[in-house]
Amino acid sequence: MLAYTYLEKGRFELREKPRPVLLEDRDAIVKVTLASICTSDLHIKHGSVPRAVPGITVGHEMVGVVEEVGPAVRTVRPGDRVTVNVETFCGECFFCKNGWVNNCTDPNGGWALGCRIDGGQAEYVRVPYADQGLDRIPDEVSDLQALLVGDVLATGYWAAQISNIRPEDTVLILGAGPTGLCTLQCVRLCSPRRIIVCDRDEERLAFVRRHYPEVLTAGPQGLTDFVRAHSEHGGADVVLEVAGSDSSFRMAWEAARPNGLVTVVALYDGPQTLPLPEMYGKNLTFKTGGVDGCRCAETLQLIREGKLDTTPLITHTFPLEKIEEAYRLFEERRDGVIKVAIRC
Ligand SMILES: [Zn+2]
Ligand SMILES: [Zn+2]
Repeated sequence: MLAYTYLEKGRFELREKPRPVLLEDRDAIVKVTLASICTSDLHIKHGSVPRAVPGITVGHEMVGVVEEVGPAVRTVRPGDRVTVNVETFCGECFFCKNGWVNNCTDPNGGWALGCRIDGGQAEYVRVPYADQGLDRIPDEVSDLQALLVGDVLATGYWAAQISNIRPEDTVLILGAGPTGLCTLQCVRLCSPRRIIVCDRDEERLAFVRRHYPEVLTAGPQGLTDFVRAHSEHGGADVVLEVAGSDSSFRMAWEAARPNGLVTVVALYDGPQTLPLPEMYGKNLTFKTGGVDGCRCAETLQLIREGKLDTTPLITHTFPLEKIEEAYRLFEERRDGVIKVAIRC
């Protein structure tokens, strides 16, 4: 089968590989129908994910049809349409039992697919702990509607859930890329009084205004003043930092009101500073990221009910044979690209 493979820093290649087989009793083999490209794939390509193993098939956001299951798999059967969870987790360790599946203590726990074990930008993928890692897609939901459930939508949902958003709040979201836009949709479900989205890309802000006219948009220039002018208590009650740029961490805590909450979802390329003397007396609370992606069944239900819809984010589709072209478009951010789907 064809599989998009990480060879070494800077080099991915579409290669012919043997089809994956069941290795453990709790494994499933999934025939991938759609996969997508994620910014984390680019992080692997650029060598900023040291634990990524050369030779692995990349891709960790996909949907497909169960082809085969191990004897211990209970929740899915061959023929089921499923979303694949970005995280691998056993469901039994201390962290899994608390819902902190990102910190599962299994050797392959956390983000393994498409990083340390073969992922899904391929015709088939082996999914360990299939009862945990797969969720059945309801009949009314299409593959395209479900494509982002396992990764970026899971992240947005988790970020909104841990941010304790209340109806009277002003919520600031930094970053209107794929994860920022998924976060926006999930924050909207919490119905805060006001939402402000900040991005430096005017095209992305226009996308936000077109799809969510009640949301205020702003560029990074003068953001703190803008937020102050549109909030009741000198800043945002809740800030979700999804941008991960050089300046966005500072922007996040500066735009928060005293005693506000800052949820850091972004993955940075380098260390950030926490200038405690400057923050003294602001009494902020920080929460930091690494999605616990174990609520995919809930998000699938919300999609079925029409409350979440990530299809407008999938701006381009390519066949697996043209995945190089798809990566180029995604990397260069041409033609209004937000998310690219790969038909496998
Ligand atoms: Zn990802
Ligand atoms: Zn576990």
